[in-house]
Amino acid sequence: MFGVVSYGRGTRLQLTLVPARPLRDLGLSLLRPTSPHTYLKSRRVEIQVVVVTLERVAISALSPDLLRHDIGDERLERLHASAAKLVTALGTGMVLNVNSTATGGGVAEMLHTLLGYARGAGLDVRWMVLDAPPEFFVLTKRLHHMLHGVDPGGAIDDGYRREYEQTLKLQAAELRTVVRPGDIVVLHDPQTAGLAPALLSWGAHVVWRCHVGTTSANATSERGWQFLRPYLKGVPIVVTQRAYLPSWVDPELTTEIPPSIDPLSTKNMELTPSFIQEILQTVGLVSSSGTPSQALTFVRRDGTPGRVERLADVLQSGPPPPIDAQLIVQISRWDPLKDMAGVMTAFAESIAPNNDSHLLLAGPNVTAVADDPEAVEVLRQCMAQWGRLPASVRSRVHLACLAIQDVDENGLLVNALQRAATVVVQKSLAEGFGLTVTEAMWKSKPVVASRVGGIPSQIVSGETGWLIDDPGNHDAFAAAVCSLLKDPILAGRLGDRARTSVAERFLPDRHLTQWSELLQRLLQPSVSTV
Ligand code: UDP
Repeated sequence: MFGVVSYGRGTRLQLTLVPARPLRDLGLSLLRPTSPHTYLKSRRVEIQVVVVTLERVAISALSPDLLRHDIGDERLERLHASAAKLVTALGTGMVLNVNSTATGGGVAEMLHTLLGYARGAGLDVRWMVLDAPPEFFVLTKRLHHMLHGVDPGGAIDDGYRREYEQTLKLQAAELRTVVRPGDIVVLHDPQTAGLAPALLSWGAHVVWRCHVGTTSANATSERGWQFLRPYLKGVPIVVTQRAYLPSWVDPELTTEIPPSIDPLSTKNMELTPSFIQEILQTVGLVSSSGTPSQALTFVRRDGTPGRVERLADVLQSGPPPPIDAQLIVQISRWDPLKDMAGVMTAFAESIAPNNDSHLLLAGPNVTAVADDPEAVEVLRQCMAQWGRLPASVRSRVHLACLAIQDVDENGLLVNALQRAATVVVQKSLAEGFGLTVTEAMWKSKPVVASRVGGIPSQIVSGETGWLIDDPGNHDAFAAAVCSLLKDPILAGRLGDRARTSVAERFLPDRHLTQWSELLQRLLQPSVSTV
């Protein structure tokens, strides 16, 4: 290769290569075509390459004291005391988190919050996001489905492993310049697990946090775990539920830490009914009698002002629902396991005929979530299904894509939608935890959700929400939703208890304290990590 190049994240360069060394040894990956070897047969070739640079995500420090109102003095003191011990144990080291997206989905949602509070508590925490080609995320999404016990089709063979390892080798080379011995690196999910051996060999402490899994293990989930097994030797693992782990994982190395939500983020903060209405009218999610006269402003997580200005992309045959309509809402990534299609079927067949409610299915803009390559196809299928609904039902079903370039603005929209809902549903076929459930429960909403993954750890059916044993049972799902639409007193009672349950179990202080305790144990090599 000749010439000196300067580059930034995602830079596309035209280079002339002399094929003396494989591309990957040069720290380069091909944008297209996918096989470098074809090209390296010739002596001088023009190819297009992408230079890998992991994205460093900015973290705004949040003072844990902000949580005092929701958690009280005693819990706050416990959090400060634990964080102070970790600061001392870490010394000059840092805690680096590596995952595969900074926006969209529960992991990104949680990291923004938790790392903000951790930094506010005095810890040197950082966050980097993989920069991998789309094919890598097609492969890792396959692995994600397998850990949920769902066969995605397509082989997971040696070629897959080679591709996975080669992509991560490039990312590891870049991490090498950042990570020092004694630092802690928290790797999130299957996309990053393969980085563990390299990090350990450099003297870093490594924890793998897996956010997905199933309590009904099968041959598919076992194959997924077997793929990851070589990378996890001796690595402490954090899961939402221990029951997700296969038997060969050493129980001494596992810790159960359920997720949490931030009560103060734009996604979960209190909103007045008039502000909710203004937000939803501004973006076009409920009907409006006129154009709002002024720009709608809000305060971001970091205290700076923000504006609601991006319209939602909505597929609907008539006007949006009126603000006083009975509204059933599911907010999810466009992922087959979230079963947006099933919600639509149940609504059309068994809910719509019984009342005047509207259904709103909302997800992120499909081009926005880098590690979720299925979104385009899932949304396309939902749109086709919507087109086949009888006209009278179609006018009451609204498919919305929300802009997520601005995390705080997107959070505010999700917040307003969840608060405007009469019933929030999460009819997932599989679920790691289900933060959307926690978010709705925090807003005192009655939730109807499938008894899968982490959802039953959140909802006690009949007390803090409603669980559907078989996610494929549309009649049971519809009956639960209809009963709540018909009985506001029951809905209110479930919602109130739901809020109390989240306040006790799923706020950041519990979550951060558990992490702090785990990392302190990790920094004392003689002590077990459990
Ligand atoms: N979410 C969002 N905008 C959307 C759709 C989803 O901010 O358009 C958020 C949602 O509020 C929740 C997270 O993405 O915080 C989804 O997390 P969950 O655990 O429910 O599912 P995951 O996507 O991690 O499988």
